[in-house]
Amino acid sequence: MVSQPYVYRRAELAEPDWRRFPAWSGVTAAEWESAQWQRAHCVKNLRQLSAVLGPGLSENFLADLGRDQRERATMSMLVPPQMLNTMVPRLAPDEPGFTAAFYADPVRRYMIPVFSDRRPDWPSHPYASRDSLHEAEMWAVEGLTHRYPTKVLAEVLPTCPQYCGHCTRMDLVGNPTPVIDKHKFGLRPTDRLTAMIDYLRASPGVRDVVVSGGDVANLPWPRLEAFVSSLLDIGNIRDIRLATKALMGLPQHWLADDVRAGLERLAAKARDRGVSIAIHTHVNAAQSVTPLVARAAQAMLDTGIRDVRNQGVLLHGVNDTAEALLDLCFVLLDEARIMPYYFYLCDMIPGSEHWRLSLAQAQDLQHQIMGYLPGFATPRMICDVPYVGKRWVHQVSRYDTELGISYWTKNYRTSVEAGDELALSREYAYYDPIHLLPAAGQRWWRERTAELAPAAAQVTAAG
Ligand code: SF4
Repeated sequence: MVSQPYVYRRAELAEPDWRRFPAWSGVTAAEWESAQWQRAHCVKNLRQLSAVLGPGLSENFLADLGRDQRERATMSMLVPPQMLNTMVPRLAPDEPGFTAAFYADPVRRYMIPVFSDRRPDWPSHPYASRDSLHEAEMWAVEGLTHRYPTKVLAEVLPTCPQYCGHCTRMDLVGNPTPVIDKHKFGLRPTDRLTAMIDYLRASPGVRDVVVSGGDVANLPWPRLEAFVSSLLDIGNIRDIRLATKALMGLPQHWLADDVRAGLERLAAKARDRGVSIAIHTHVNAAQSVTPLVARAAQAMLDTGIRDVRNQGVLLHGVNDTAEALLDLCFVLLDEARIMPYYFYLCDMIPGSEHWRLSLAQAQDLQHQIMGYLPGFATPRMICDVPYVGKRWVHQVSRYDTELGISYWTKNYRTSVEAGDELALSREYAYYDPIHLLPAAGQRWWRERTAELAPAAAQVTAAG
């Protein structure tokens, strides 16, 4: 008998024992479950990481991390204990092989990137750029991206409780790093939110608002509640999605009594008005789904919101196999009642080549995962094409696999193309990582390096 490519097995969730880390050996369950304790004990630098993990983590790893932070990192370090505890979940730092397992860990690979992870040949694609999706260009008012005709993205704040190495919004989100300065909002936070609400009141064509950042878990609850409540007062808004990776990274936040009670009030108001509120989270690896994460997701559903959905990112060394993706989708769906929804190709930001997959790899992964999950929970692989928007990976109109250039078209005008007659007939390009191309394609790109040098310099320069 020939076996199936993937065999489903139900996962049993277990919270990894945080007491295996020397600095947390005396931390109680009550402390661990406190959002305040988690926020106060986030790991923000090399010294704190070393203090938490102790001498079991090699000096070489720390030097590798230090070099990355000085020369490559586009995001500063911020890892809540909850997330750190899901790395190498079954090994204590003083056990043999810990550093090697830490290097190989999927969550470590995107939350605590080190210099040796990155491509030495092409750390960045020549066409990589800050704000690679041109969101700021499409701001209707500061922080409100109006890209699609019927929906908007509201970036309500530029911070998160955790910083991911591959963050698409590295231009705006988080603290500056030695190589990347951050764009700063000009308006005061309350004025920015007011301007967004005013714009939406005057925009009857918009029915769907993604409330994001950053991560909405960092907005003080009363301010988030007031903002969402104002959205609910606008008659044409029918869908509201709250974007928060913290549902996984800091589930303690969403389990706090005041937050649950507040979301319950919003869910009741939404229900009265026939509006759907959903939480969209960002989980990339099955090991991130712990009992606390499942409890937080259930608590959100219990408030009466419509759904909790996952938008992950396809990352090499993290989740780039069908098995890893299916394990993740099943644990989300079966154990946490989180709906698998999208997996994005990692966007073309500086320093991301070692994480990025080619379009062909994403198409193959889509093919490989079909048929195992229920259709409604089978995530779509998505390429977010600059100036186009989200496209399913099979929607490509032309694909030069030797040069790694895919061409895409679209069926709507973004807010910056109101007068552009050719917007719907033009093709827009997206680029595969060069190191994955055949030799002839790699040579083509190398020969053009000099020609592309100004663009490459522009994207790697600070500020
Ligand atoms: S949580 Fe989202 S916005 Fe925040 S750093 Fe991660 S990817 Fe970026």
